[in-house]
Amino acid sequence: MRLVLIGPPGAGKGTQATLLGRRFGIPHISTGDLFRENVSHGTPLGQEARRYLDAGELVPDHVTGAMVRRRLEEPDARRGFLLDGFPRTVEQAHALTTILARTGAVLDAVVEFDAPEHIVVERLRGRGRSDDTEEVIRHRQQVYRRQTAPLLAHYTDIVLTVHAVGTVEEITDRALEALADLPGAA
Ligand code: AMP
Repeated sequence: MRLVLIGPPGAGKGTQATLLGRRFGIPHISTGDLFRENVSHGTPLGQEARRYLDAGELVPDHVTGAMVRRRLEEPDARRGFLLDGFPRTVEQAHALTTILARTGAVLDAVVEFDAPEHIVVERLRGRGRSDDTEEVIRHRQQVYRRQTAPLLAHYTDIVLTVHAVGTVEEITDRALEALADLPGAA
């Protein structure tokens, strides 16, 4: 199964992606995690990405796209994947289509985790990652609304919306129910 997870920062995409990836036996690929690993290892990519993460801005597409392409070319991603945090713009969605087309692959679904802003902001305040300061939290919500939310219209034919307020288990159950009809979800 090839899935993209979309939702505002704090919607719980990362937690759900880990659980769903285990369930379906496909890798959970988080661009935020890949960037943070590069930052902590001090790689050239990490050095370039760091200031964007700190500011809550999107890392430029040429950096992000190349990183995702390399990751998707690894053998474990051949059979499927859960992309968490990519694409985040319509341009990145086009780049993803191009990457997948090289092997004749297409996305099966885009899962939208939907939760009101005051709830996701409250979750982020309690999380304490280095980009979870009040100002950066607000800015990342704005980036989501302006740059990422338009993807829902772009993917309208394959979007499955999951109500993302509740316990982790409740939200996983809703996601599994939404995905139940896809091939490979049994
Ligand atoms: P996340 O872990 O998904 O909240 O992402 C943390 C940060 O990584 C974001 O605020 C961006 O700075 C950067 N980032 C993650 N994914 C992308 C992406 N697809 N495009 C550009 N920047 C990204």
